[in-house]
Amino acid sequence: MSDAENSPPTEPIDSPSQGGPEPGSDFEPVSVFGDSETTMDLRPGADNCYKCSVCDTSCPVAEVDDDFPGPKFQGPEQWRLKRKEGSEIDDSIMSCSNCMRCDDACPSSVPLSQMHNTARGEYVDEQMDKLSVEYVRNRILANYRTSAWFASKVPRLANAVMSFGPTRWVMEKAMGVTSEREFPAFATQTFREWWRKRGGADASRRNAREARERRGDPADADKKIAYFHGCYSNYNTPEVGKALVHVFESFGYEIVAPEQRCSGTPMFANGMLADAERAAEVNVSSFADLVEEGYDAVASCTSCSMALKQEYPELFDIDGIDDVAENTFEALEYLRIQEDLEGAIADASVEEQAFAYHAPCHARNQGLDRQALELFRELDGVAMEDVGDSCSGISGTYGWKEEKYENSMKIGEDMFEHMHDAAGDVGMTECPTCAMQMEHGTGYEIKHPLQLLEEALC
Ligand code: SF4
Ligand code: SF4
Repeated sequence: MSDAENSPPTEPIDSPSQGGPEPGSDFEPVSVFGDSETTMDLRPGADNCYKCSVCDTSCPVAEVDDDFPGPKFQGPEQWRLKRKEGSEIDDSIMSCSNCMRCDDACPSSVPLSQMHNTARGEYVDEQMDKLSVEYVRNRILANYRTSAWFASKVPRLANAVMSFGPTRWVMEKAMGVTSEREFPAFATQTFREWWRKRGGADASRRNAREARERRGDPADADKKIAYFHGCYSNYNTPEVGKALVHVFESFGYEIVAPEQRCSGTPMFANGMLADAERAAEVNVSSFADLVEEGYDAVASCTSCSMALKQEYPELFDIDGIDDVAENTFEALEYLRIQEDLEGAIADASVEEQAFAYHAPCHARNQGLDRQALELFRELDGVAMEDVGDSCSGISGTYGWKEEKYENSMKIGEDMFEHMHDAAGDVGMTECPTCAMQMEHGTGYEIKHPLQLLEEALC
């Protein structure tokens, strides 16, 4: 088992690209990245747009930011404009939070988020001042794993420094990181430290075999998953990763936790596509070998599963990328496909508790926005209330930017209100940054569905 925990910050790599012109077309494809070997041609997708504006009405940023022209302009119109030589990407692309709600809303399957990600990458590459405070701030936010890796070496000191009022004031004045939010605490033991101490894959194999015996599964049952824990479950909320391990082992799954980097989600949102490709290369290389051996990749964060399933194959050309994308699942999604999870839950009970559930936008984009509600309504002792289909407003790094904070909170207003109206004062969501926003806007404790599953089944 390789060890991502002790790996140093990664080295820069070349820019990504993919695709090519339609055969027989006289269209000159746009070179999105100057030194690319191939080009990405998004014109056919742009031509599928029939200007219905449904995407614009679904965009949470356009609703609160009068200066943001919306997804139709950012996507198809921008790509049409790019046919004209010398046209530049409009700087409003940096206000798109990459929530991907427009992707889900478009009735004509226009690849909006792929267009936004590609346009943002080009804007940052070619038009953004690399010495500007905005670029440096965005690069630091996008590479959260690097900061978290250093902080995890001295978590108590890091927590004290980051929660110190003057530090937050300086971060806002010098870097444009809002002082309104409290920085998430770093765990004193990361998930990977816990995993290694527990015995890693060998211990998991033993536990899974015992569970299979108890359950009466065949001893040679092919139950193997490779866990994509991502940065947040590793450095901030290892309890979510531990819950995944306990729950999957209880169903007889052998777990490995291969070497991995950030899924790239905050990098896509900030146009740092070279950083994202560098991370994707490590992740795909690590998980592709395991997929070939019969493992499925399982993530506990819906944005991580989204990145591996959709954004990687849309944006990068890496050996094994399609196999990894096709065999990646979110944790509840996977158990609901493979096991009688509803049956197991129906036989269990927990102490009485009520949850206000928020479906992350990236769960919605994968068709997973109802799964926790449908599942836990079978669990004795639990009341689940959906807090509506609005965006939480934080969208990863978007709500951490000083100039976006107010809009982020305006977007979240509906969700906060519904949480206050719901019974109970505990929230639930699959996305760690939505959890931050839920906690920030209401003061509620927020749990991941895996933690409730653990309580019910383990
Ligand atoms: S929803 Fe799709 S078809 Fe309608 S305007 Fe937006 S991109 Fe075009
Ligand atoms: S990804 Fe979200 S913020 Fe960006 S244009 Fe689409 S709906 Fe709007």
